[in-house]
Amino acid sequence: MKLTSEKVLVCGAGGFIGGHLVHDLLNNGVNVVRAVDAKPFDTWYQSSEAVENLSLDLRNKDNCYAAAAGMDVVFQLAADMGGMGFIENNKALCMLSVLTNTHMLLAAKDTGVERFFYSSSACVYNGDKQKTADVVPLKEEDAYPAMPEDGYGWEKLFSERMCRHFEEDFGLQTRVARYHNVYGPLGTYDGGREKAPAAICRKVIQAKISGRHEIEIWGDGRQTRSFMYIDDCTKGTQAILESDIREPLNLGSNELVTINQLVDIVEEIAGVKLERKYKLDAPKGVNGRNSDNTKILNSLGWQPSIRLRDGMAKTYEWIESQMLALAR
Ligand code: NAD
Repeated sequence: MKLTSEKVLVCGAGGFIGGHLVHDLLNNGVNVVRAVDAKPFDTWYQSSEAVENLSLDLRNKDNCYAAAAGMDVVFQLAADMGGMGFIENNKALCMLSVLTNTHMLLAAKDTGVERFFYSSSACVYNGDKQKTADVVPLKEEDAYPAMPEDGYGWEKLFSERMCRHFEEDFGLQTRVARYHNVYGPLGTYDGGREKAPAAICRKVIQAKISGRHEIEIWGDGRQTRSFMYIDDCTKGTQAILESDIREPLNLGSNELVTINQLVDIVEEIAGVKLERKYKLDAPKGVNGRNSDNTKILNSLGWQPSIRLRDGMAKTYEWIESQMLALAR
Protein backbone atom coordinates (compact mmCIF):
# COMPACT_ATOMS: atom_id res chain seq x y z
CA MET A 1 0.00 0.00 0.00
CA LYS A 2 1.15 3.54 -0.78
CA LEU A 3 -0.25 6.15 1.59
CA THR A 4 -0.24 8.83 -1.13
CA SER A 5 -3.13 7.13 -2.91
CA GLU A 6 -5.29 6.72 0.21
CA LYS A 7 -7.77 8.82 2.19
CA VAL A 8 -6.45 9.04 5.72
CA LEU A 9 -7.94 9.63 9.17
CA VAL A 10 -5.73 10.45 12.18
CA CYS A 11 -7.29 9.85 15.62
CA GLY A 12 -5.63 11.67 18.52
CA ALA A 13 -4.48 14.39 16.11
CA GLY A 14 -4.62 17.08 18.78
CA GLY A 15 -1.97 15.25 20.78
CA PHE A 16 1.80 15.15 20.51
CA ILE A 17 2.46 12.29 18.05
CA GLY A 18 -0.85 12.72 16.18
CA GLY A 19 -0.14 16.40 15.52
CA HIS A 20 3.32 15.66 14.12
CA LEU A 21 1.95 12.75 12.10
CA VAL A 22 -0.70 14.88 10.36
CA HIS A 23 1.96 17.41 9.40
CA ASP A 24 4.42 14.84 8.16
CA LEU A 25 1.74 13.03 6.14
CA LEU A 26 0.71 16.32 4.50
CA ASN A 27 4.36 17.13 3.76
CA ASN A 28 4.67 13.73 2.11
CA GLY A 29 1.72 14.48 -0.17
CA VAL A 30 -0.75 12.20 1.63
CA ASN A 31 -4.44 13.05 1.44
CA VAL A 32 -5.18 13.45 5.13
CA VAL A 33 -8.89 14.02 5.02
CA ARG A 34 -9.78 14.15 8.67
CA ALA A 35 -8.13 14.76 12.04
CA VAL A 36 -10.01 13.93 15.25
CA ASP A 37 -9.35 14.54 18.92
CA ALA A 38 -11.51 14.80 22.04
CA LYS A 39 -9.83 18.02 23.13
CA PRO A 40 -11.36 21.38 22.15
CA PHE A 41 -9.80 22.42 18.84
CA ASP A 42 -8.04 25.48 20.26
CA THR A 43 -6.02 23.28 22.63
CA TRP A 44 -4.54 20.99 19.96
CA TYR A 45 -0.74 21.16 19.80
CA GLN A 46 -0.86 21.47 16.01
CA SER A 47 -3.53 21.70 13.35
CA SER A 48 -3.84 22.25 9.63
CA GLU A 49 -6.50 24.06 7.69
CA ALA A 50 -5.99 21.62 4.82
CA VAL A 51 -7.76 18.97 6.88
CA GLU A 52 -11.25 18.51 8.33
CA ASN A 53 -10.63 18.90 12.07
CA LEU A 54 -13.22 17.35 14.36
CA SER A 55 -13.47 17.52 18.13
CA LEU A 56 -15.07 14.16 18.96
CA ASP A 57 -14.89 11.76 21.89
CA LEU A 58 -13.96 8.46 20.27
CA ARG A 59 -15.04 6.39 23.27
CA ASN A 60 -18.47 6.98 21.77
CA LYS A 61 -19.32 4.43 19.06
CA ASP A 62 -21.39 6.78 16.84
CA ASN A 63 -18.52 9.28 16.82
CA CYS A 64 -16.18 6.53 15.62
CA TYR A 65 -18.49 5.72 12.70
CA ALA A 66 -18.67 9.42 11.78
CA ALA A 67 -14.88 9.69 11.93
CA ALA A 68 -14.21 6.55 9.86
CA ALA A 69 -16.83 7.17 7.13
CA GLY A 70 -15.24 7.36 3.68
CA MET A 71 -11.67 6.64 4.90
CA ASP A 72 -9.22 4.07 3.51
CA VAL A 73 -6.67 4.25 6.33
CA VAL A 74 -7.01 4.92 10.06
CA PHE A 75 -4.13 5.88 12.33
CA GLN A 76 -5.49 5.20 15.83
CA LEU A 77 -3.41 7.17 18.34
CA ALA A 78 -6.16 8.47 20.62
CA ALA A 79 -5.64 7.29 24.20
CA ASP A 80 -5.75 8.52 27.75
CA MET A 81 -2.07 8.43 28.58
CA GLY A 82 0.89 10.13 30.14
CA GLY A 83 4.23 9.50 31.83
CA MET A 84 4.76 7.12 34.76
CA GLY A 85 3.22 9.56 37.24
CA PHE A 86 -0.02 9.48 35.26
CA ILE A 87 -0.26 5.82 34.31
CA GLU A 88 0.60 4.50 37.78
CA ASN A 89 -2.14 6.64 39.36
CA ASN A 90 -4.83 6.37 36.65
CA LYS A 91 -5.02 2.69 35.77
CA ALA A 92 -8.79 2.60 35.23
CA LEU A 93 -8.71 5.69 33.00
CA CYS A 94 -5.90 4.16 30.94
CA MET A 95 -7.84 0.92 30.59
CA LEU A 96 -10.93 2.80 29.42
CA SER A 97 -9.07 3.55 26.19
CA VAL A 98 -10.28 0.07 25.31
CA LEU A 99 -13.60 1.72 24.42
CA THR A 100 -11.88 3.95 21.85
CA ASN A 101 -9.92 1.06 20.37
CA THR A 102 -12.91 -1.30 20.26
CA HIS A 103 -15.26 1.23 18.72
CA MET A 104 -12.69 2.49 16.21
CA LEU A 105 -11.92 -1.08 15.09
CA LEU A 106 -15.64 -1.85 14.70
CA ALA A 107 -16.21 1.40 12.80
CA ALA A 108 -13.22 0.73 10.54
CA LYS A 109 -14.46 -2.78 9.76
CA ASP A 110 -18.07 -1.71 9.09
CA THR A 111 -17.28 1.38 7.00
CA GLY A 112 -14.87 -0.46 4.69
CA VAL A 113 -11.56 0.93 5.92
CA GLU A 114 -8.73 -0.97 4.29
CA ARG A 115 -5.96 -0.63 6.83
CA PHE A 116 -5.82 0.25 10.54
CA PHE A 117 -2.72 1.37 12.43
CA TYR A 118 -2.60 0.96 16.20
CA SER A 119 -0.10 2.77 18.45
CA SER A 120 0.87 0.26 21.10
CA SER A 121 3.63 0.69 23.65
CA ALA A 122 6.77 -0.80 25.18
CA CYS A 123 4.62 -1.01 28.33
CA VAL A 124 3.24 -4.30 26.93
CA TYR A 125 6.52 -6.06 27.72
CA ASN A 126 6.85 -8.59 30.52
CA GLY A 127 8.02 -6.81 33.68
CA ASP A 128 10.30 -9.73 34.59
CA LYS A 129 12.54 -8.81 31.64
CA GLN A 130 12.97 -5.23 32.89
CA LYS A 131 14.07 -5.74 36.48
CA THR A 132 17.65 -4.51 36.18
CA ALA A 133 19.07 -1.29 34.76
CA ASP A 134 21.53 -3.37 32.73
CA VAL A 135 18.83 -4.65 30.37
CA VAL A 136 18.89 -6.91 27.35
CA PRO A 137 16.99 -4.98 24.63
CA LEU A 138 13.41 -6.20 24.30
CA LYS A 139 12.51 -8.30 21.29
CA GLU A 140 8.93 -8.47 20.06
CA GLU A 141 8.43 -12.00 21.45
CA ASP A 142 9.28 -10.78 24.97
CA ALA A 143 5.68 -9.58 25.41
CA TYR A 144 4.73 -13.18 26.19
CA PRO A 145 4.14 -14.81 28.62
CA ALA A 146 2.16 -11.68 29.41
CA MET A 147 2.97 -9.57 32.47
CA PRO A 148 2.73 -6.01 31.15
CA GLU A 149 2.58 -2.71 33.04
CA ASP A 150 -0.56 -2.82 35.18
CA GLY A 151 -3.49 -0.86 33.72
CA TYR A 152 -2.06 0.97 30.69
CA GLY A 153 0.10 -1.94 29.47
CA TRP A 154 -2.65 -4.54 29.81
CA GLU A 155 -5.01 -2.36 27.77
CA LYS A 156 -2.37 -1.92 25.06
CA LEU A 157 -1.70 -5.65 24.91
CA PHE A 158 -5.41 -6.47 24.77
CA SER A 159 -5.95 -3.95 21.97
CA GLU A 160 -2.99 -5.41 20.04
CA ARG A 161 -4.74 -8.79 20.27
CA MET A 162 -7.98 -7.23 19.04
CA CYS A 163 -6.13 -5.86 16.01
CA ARG A 164 -4.74 -9.31 15.32
CA HIS A 165 -8.15 -10.99 15.53
CA PHE A 166 -9.97 -8.30 13.54
CA GLU A 167 -7.50 -9.09 10.76
CA GLU A 168 -7.79 -12.88 11.11
CA ASP A 169 -11.56 -13.06 11.58
CA PHE A 170 -12.88 -9.99 9.73
CA GLY A 171 -10.21 -9.25 7.12
CA LEU A 172 -9.47 -5.70 8.34
CA GLN A 173 -5.74 -5.23 7.73
CA THR A 174 -4.08 -4.08 10.92
CA ARG A 175 -0.57 -2.83 11.66
CA VAL A 176 0.84 -2.33 15.15
CA ALA A 177 3.86 -0.35 16.40
CA ARG A 178 5.17 -0.62 19.93
CA TYR A 179 6.44 2.90 20.60
CA HIS A 180 9.30 3.27 23.08
CA ASN A 181 9.34 6.71 24.82
CA VAL A 182 8.77 9.30 22.12
CA TYR A 183 9.89 12.89 22.76
CA GLY A 184 10.17 16.20 20.93
CA PRO A 185 8.68 19.68 20.66
CA LEU A 186 4.94 20.42 20.62
CA GLY A 187 3.95 17.95 23.30
CA THR A 188 3.05 17.85 26.98
CA TYR A 189 5.68 19.27 29.33
CA ASP A 190 3.65 20.00 32.46
CA GLY A 191 0.34 19.24 34.15
CA GLY A 192 1.10 15.66 35.25
CA ARG A 193 0.99 13.74 31.94
CA GLU A 194 4.48 14.73 30.77
CA LYS A 195 7.20 12.14 30.31
CA ALA A 196 10.79 12.22 31.56
CA PRO A 197 12.51 14.13 28.68
CA ALA A 198 9.98 16.99 28.75
CA ALA A 199 9.75 16.97 32.55
CA ILE A 200 13.52 17.23 32.93
CA CYS A 201 13.70 20.08 30.40
CA ARG A 202 10.96 21.93 32.30
CA LYS A 203 12.65 21.42 35.68
CA VAL A 204 16.02 22.62 34.38
CA ILE A 205 14.43 25.69 32.77
CA GLN A 206 12.50 26.42 36.00
CA ALA A 207 15.76 26.18 37.96
CA LYS A 208 17.40 28.61 35.57
CA ILE A 209 14.51 31.07 35.68
CA SER A 210 14.13 30.94 39.48
CA GLY A 211 17.85 30.85 40.29
CA ARG A 212 17.24 27.86 42.65
CA HIS A 213 19.87 25.54 41.27
CA GLU A 214 18.40 22.17 42.22
CA ILE A 215 16.38 19.45 40.48
CA GLU A 216 14.08 16.71 41.76
CA ILE A 217 14.63 13.35 40.07
CA TRP A 218 12.13 10.49 40.35
CA GLY A 219 13.80 7.32 41.61
CA ASP A 220 17.56 7.03 42.09
CA GLY A 221 18.32 8.21 38.53
CA ARG A 222 20.00 4.92 37.68
CA GLN A 223 16.99 3.48 35.84
CA THR A 224 17.72 3.12 32.11
CA ARG A 225 15.60 4.00 29.09
CA SER A 226 15.89 4.78 25.39
CA PHE A 227 14.13 7.78 23.85
CA MET A 228 12.98 8.18 20.23
CA TYR A 229 12.81 11.59 18.59
CA ILE A 230 9.41 12.41 17.09
CA ASP A 231 10.65 12.64 13.46
CA ASP A 232 11.94 9.05 13.63
CA CYS A 233 8.58 8.02 15.11
CA THR A 234 6.41 9.56 12.36
CA LYS A 235 8.66 8.13 9.65
CA GLY A 236 8.58 4.65 11.18
CA THR A 237 4.83 4.83 11.72
CA GLN A 238 4.23 5.46 8.01
CA ALA A 239 6.68 2.71 7.01
CA ILE A 240 4.89 0.19 9.24
CA LEU A 241 1.48 1.21 7.87
CA GLU A 242 2.65 0.73 4.28
CA SER A 243 4.35 -2.59 5.04
CA ASP A 244 3.12 -6.16 4.93
CA ILE A 245 4.19 -6.87 8.51
CA ARG A 246 1.17 -8.05 10.46
CA GLU A 247 2.89 -8.65 13.80
CA PRO A 248 3.59 -5.81 16.27
CA LEU A 249 6.95 -4.14 15.64
CA ASN A 250 9.19 -2.24 18.04
CA LEU A 251 9.58 1.40 17.10
CA GLY A 252 12.14 2.96 19.39
CA SER A 253 15.65 4.11 19.88
CA ASN A 254 18.35 1.79 21.19
CA GLU A 255 20.55 4.58 22.54
CA LEU A 256 20.32 3.53 26.19
CA VAL A 257 20.86 6.14 28.93
CA THR A 258 20.26 6.39 32.65
CA ILE A 259 17.94 9.14 33.83
CA ASN A 260 21.03 10.72 35.40
CA GLN A 261 22.69 10.81 31.96
CA LEU A 262 19.55 12.38 30.50
CA VAL A 263 19.80 15.10 33.15
CA ASP A 264 23.51 15.55 32.27
CA ILE A 265 22.51 16.13 28.63
CA VAL A 266 19.87 18.71 29.51
CA GLU A 267 22.19 20.50 31.96
CA GLU A 268 24.79 20.70 29.24
CA ILE A 269 22.28 22.12 26.73
CA ALA A 270 21.11 24.64 29.34
CA GLY A 271 24.62 25.51 30.50
CA VAL A 272 23.88 24.86 34.19
CA LYS A 273 24.80 22.34 36.87
CA LEU A 274 22.09 21.55 39.42
CA GLU A 275 22.05 19.87 42.80
CA ARG A 276 20.13 16.61 42.41
CA LYS A 277 17.44 15.63 44.94
CA TYR A 278 16.28 12.06 44.48
CA LYS A 279 12.63 11.28 45.25
CA LEU A 280 12.86 7.58 45.89
CA ASP A 281 9.13 7.00 46.48
CA ALA A 282 8.02 8.67 43.22
CA PRO A 283 6.64 6.53 40.34
CA LYS A 284 9.64 5.46 38.29
CA GLY A 285 8.47 2.47 36.25
CA VAL A 286 10.67 -0.51 35.45
CA ASN A 287 14.40 -0.43 36.28
CA GLY A 288 15.54 -0.76 32.69
CA ARG A 289 14.11 -0.87 29.17
CA ASN A 290 15.62 -0.78 25.70
CA SER A 291 14.33 -1.55 22.22
CA ASP A 292 15.70 -4.35 20.04
CA ASN A 293 15.20 -3.04 16.51
CA THR A 294 16.48 -6.08 14.62
CA LYS A 295 13.09 -6.97 13.17
CA ILE A 296 12.17 -3.52 11.83
CA LEU A 297 15.71 -2.92 10.54
CA ASN A 298 15.75 -6.23 8.66
CA SER A 299 12.21 -5.97 7.31
CA LEU A 300 11.79 -2.24 6.60
CA GLY A 301 15.30 -0.79 6.81
CA TRP A 302 14.10 1.61 9.53
CA GLN A 303 16.45 2.71 12.27
CA PRO A 304 16.49 5.79 14.45
CA SER A 305 18.51 8.60 12.87
CA ILE A 306 18.45 11.36 15.48
CA ARG A 307 20.89 11.26 18.39
CA LEU A 308 19.44 11.92 21.83
CA ARG A 309 21.63 15.01 22.35
CA ASP A 310 20.36 16.59 19.11
CA GLY A 311 16.69 15.76 19.70
CA MET A 312 16.87 16.99 23.29
CA ALA A 313 18.35 20.31 22.15
CA LYS A 314 15.32 20.89 19.88
CA THR A 315 12.92 19.80 22.62
CA TYR A 316 14.59 22.03 25.20
CA GLU A 317 14.49 25.01 22.86
CA TRP A 318 10.74 24.63 22.26
CA ILE A 319 9.85 24.12 25.94
CA GLU A 320 11.99 27.09 26.92
CA SER A 321 10.27 29.30 24.35
CA GLN A 322 6.87 28.27 25.74
CA MET A 323 7.87 28.86 29.35
CA LEU A 324 9.51 32.21 28.65
CA ALA A 325 6.42 33.35 26.72
CA LEU A 326 4.23 32.39 29.69
CA ALA A 327 6.55 34.11 32.15
CA ARG A 328 6.30 37.41 30.25
P1 NAD B 1 -1.02 12.56 23.70
O1 NAD B 1 -1.70 12.46 25.03
O2 NAD B 1 -0.25 13.79 23.40
O3 NAD B 1 -2.07 12.33 22.53
C1 NAD B 1 -3.20 11.49 22.65
C2 NAD B 1 -4.38 12.27 22.18
O4 NAD B 1 -5.54 11.42 22.23
C3 NAD B 1 -4.69 13.47 23.09
O5 NAD B 1 -4.68 14.67 22.34
C4 NAD B 1 -6.07 13.17 23.63
O6 NAD B 1 -6.89 14.32 23.77
C5 NAD B 1 -6.62 12.23 22.59
N1 NAD B 1 -7.69 11.41 23.13
C6 NAD B 1 -7.72 10.76 24.32
N2 NAD B 1 -8.89 10.14 24.48
C7 NAD B 1 -9.63 10.42 23.38
C8 NAD B 1 -10.93 10.07 22.98
N3 NAD B 1 -11.73 9.34 23.76
N4 NAD B 1 -11.38 10.52 21.78
C9 NAD B 1 -10.57 11.28 20.98
N5 NAD B 1 -9.33 11.65 21.33
C10 NAD B 1 -8.86 11.22 22.52
O7 NAD B 1 -0.09 11.26 23.59
P2 NAD B 1 0.98 10.87 22.48
O8 NAD B 1 2.28 10.87 23.16
O9 NAD B 1 0.77 11.68 21.26
O10 NAD B 1 0.56 9.36 22.23
C11 NAD B 1 -0.17 8.93 21.08
C12 NAD B 1 -0.35 7.43 21.15
O11 NAD B 1 0.92 6.78 21.21
C13 NAD B 1 -1.13 6.95 22.36
O12 NAD B 1 -1.96 5.88 21.99
C14 NAD B 1 -0.06 6.47 23.30
O13 NAD B 1 -0.52 5.49 24.20
C15 NAD B 1 0.97 5.90 22.32
N6 NAD B 1 2.31 5.86 22.89
C16 NAD B 1 2.99 7.02 23.11
C17 NAD B 1 4.26 6.97 23.65
C18 NAD B 1 5.06 8.23 23.92
O14 NAD B 1 6.21 8.12 24.37
N7 NAD B 1 4.54 9.41 23.67
C19 NAD B 1 4.85 5.74 23.97
C20 NAD B 1 4.12 4.57 23.73
C21 NAD B 1 2.86 4.65 23.16
